[in-house]
Amino acid sequence: MIPAVLPTYNRAPLAFVSGQGSWLTADDGKRYLDLGGGIAVNALGHANPALVKALTDQAQKLWHVSNVYRIPEQERLAAMLVERTFADTVFFTNSGTETAELSIKMARKFHYENGQPERVEFIAFEGAFHGRSTAAIAAAGSEKMVKGYGPLMPGFRQLKWADHDAIRAAITDQTCAVIIEPIQGEGGIRVVPDQCLKGLRDLCDSTGTLLIFDEVQCGMGRTGKLFAHEWAGVTPDIMMVAKGIGGGFPLGAVLATERAALGMTAGTHGSTYGGNPLGCAVGAAVLGIVGEDAFLADVSRKAALFRQGLESLVARHPEVFEAVRGQGLILGLKCRVANADMVKAGYAAGVLTVAAADNVLRLLPALNIPDADIAEALDRLDRAAAEVGRGAAV
Ligand code: PLP
Repeated sequence: MIPAVLPTYNRAPLAFVSGQGSWLTADDGKRYLDLGGGIAVNALGHANPALVKALTDQAQKLWHVSNVYRIPEQERLAAMLVERTFADTVFFTNSGTETAELSIKMARKFHYENGQPERVEFIAFEGAFHGRSTAAIAAAGSEKMVKGYGPLMPGFRQLKWADHDAIRAAITDQTCAVIIEPIQGEGGIRVVPDQCLKGLRDLCDSTGTLLIFDEVQCGMGRTGKLFAHEWAGVTPDIMMVAKGIGGGFPLGAVLATERAALGMTAGTHGSTYGGNPLGCAVGAAVLGIVGEDAFLADVSRKAALFRQGLESLVARHPEVFEAVRGQGLILGLKCRVANADMVKAGYAAGVLTVAAADNVLRLLPALNIPDADIAEALDRLDRAAAEVGRGAAV
């Protein structure tokens, strides 16, 4: 019999009842060190007092009003994002998938209004993940995501990841935009080198193609800059943000330059919940903390500490791990054993990790994870690896 919850997830037999900082407590009382962070969502850990206060203060005042009215909390968060980034304008959503939808619509609308309505095609990359809507699965194009859902939305092709010559050859006078994650998350924590992002920006500029960065997973402070592309010193025309921006409250945002948003006039897009007062109040609290230079510098410091520990973990368990990947606190351990076995051994050792493609074990801890918890996490990963390693050696 089909369960009451549609069985689209292969769920671990764990149910959590509370969380504090980097720790989760299950219904049997066991505590787990959370290195998954709700897949890069809990940027400031669980039950962060500043976020709880922002949410509850707002909850006492006003939860929801329609976007047919001005929403001061939304205007405030938009202004903060505009001040802190390349963007001139922001549209708020409730998820990352919705940011893919709008980014795709906005890019097509730009060319339409700009007198080149034939520019409708998107270039995306193998291993990409942009969400689960029909447009987002067409963009990613992987067999696993699109099988059975045809006919797919036309206008998307996937190139080999970060193959510059292929991109150059693929851009035509029909190309609308290139959409890329500066660091692939689901694809296995694959960092696009800075020079590739720079080259991509130049190529887009010289061909009149828009550049969309999907920073849903790698953005909001995770790399030690507010957004990952800042390391490369280039900016996109449109950017997708979600996950960490709400710190656990469903919130996403499309950031764009004034030029790219050319066609987005009244009536061209909308959302009932997008930019609601609750989400935006929490978002402002998150950005108020994560956007501080000192906070970001500390993310880099913690990341260096964590990475050093992971490098020695790999050295100690060569039969289990191949290498460390990632940047900042979006980290991956490329496994020699099945990554799922490591995730499972982590459960037994009381540490939560997430599997990614390419047999990678993903680590996306809270950006403010205490140093002591990093040490504890490394200890628990070490125990889990020893357990899996024993199996691998048999
Ligand atoms: N884009 C990236 C890079 C993601 O990692 C995800 C989610 O994992 C999405 C888009 C989709 O976001 P959501 O699941 O909030 O719709």
